[in-house]
Amino acid sequence: MEAILSDNDIMKPPTCPVKDCSLPIDIVLRSSDGIELGAHMRNLEHYSEAFPQSGSVEVNSEAEAVTLDETGDVLELMLQFMHLTRQPELAKISFDLLSGLAEAVEKYMIYSAMSMCKLYMGYALKEHPLDVLMYSSKHNYDMMANECAPLTLKYKSETVVRKANEKCLHDSFLLKWFRCRDIHNQAVRTILKADGIYSKKSNGSHHSCGLWDSLKKEVQLESFKFEFATIQDIRDLIDTKSSSVLSCVPCTRAAHEWRSQAKQAVIPVFSDM
Ligand SMILES: [Zn+2]
Ligand SMILES: [Zn+2]
Repeated sequence: MEAILSDNDIMKPPTCPVKDCSLPIDIVLRSSDGIELGAHMRNLEHYSEAFPQSGSVEVNSEAEAVTLDETGDVLELMLQFMHLTRQPELAKISFDLLSGLAEAVEKYMIYSAMSMCKLYMGYALKEHPLDVLMYSSKHNYDMMANECAPLTLKYKSETVVRKANEKCLHDSFLLKWFRCRDIHNQAVRTILKADGIYSKKSNGSHHSCGLWDSLKKEVQLESFKFEFATIQDIRDLIDTKSSSVLSCVPCTRAAHEWRSQAKQAVIPVFSDM
C-alpha cells in the first residue's frame, strides 16, 4: 500500500517572516535554535553593513542556508528591520529578546534598527542596569553607561565577572567597573568619617551636648547593616537621622554641614575610568 503524504510530511521551504512579503527567497538563515527563515540577499546587503560578507555566500537557484549565532525570534525581528515595511513594536517584547536584538543589530551593523534598540535599552536601564551597562559600554554609548554604572555597584563581583565573561566583554570593562567601585567606596568611607566636622557654638567655641556624636555613631552603625552602602544610601541615612539633633542649634549646624559634604561627594563617571 502506498503511503499518502500529508502536507505536514512534506518539507516546506522556509518563508520570509515578514507578512505579505513577495520578494524571492535566495538565502536561508538558520538560527542557533534551529529555526530556518527565508531572506533576500539584496535586502541583507542593503540594510546591513556587516552581513552577509560579499562572496561568503554562494547564491544558487536553491537557497543556501547560513547558520547564525542568534535565536530565531531575534532573527525574525532583525529581518523585519531589513524590509521596506513598518518596524516591529519593540515596546511589547521581553527584555531578553530586546537585548539579543540590540546586540545582533550592532554586530551586523543594521543602522535602521540600532538607534531604536538603543532607545529601548535606555528605557530598561533602571530594571536591568548591569545588562544595559554591558551593552552600552561595549558599543561606546558613554552617556548611557555613565547613567547605569552607579546602579550596578551593589552587584556582587562574581555576578559582574560571570556576566562579563558570558558576554565576551573585553577585560577593560571589568577594570573600569572595579575602579569605579573602588573610588565610590573610598567616597563612602570619607563621608562616614565626617572628618573636620564639629559641633560648635556660634562664637566658634567647642560644644558637646553629645547629640552630634550620637548622630555620627548612629549613621556609621546603620551603614554597616547594608550589604553594600552606596553614596546615595549614606546621604539618605544622614537626612533621615538628622532629625535627632534638631533640639540643639550647634549640633544641627554640624549635621547640616555633614549633609552638604555628603551631597558634594562625586559619584565616579564610568567612561572616565
Ligand atoms: Zn521578505
Ligand atoms: Zn548639641
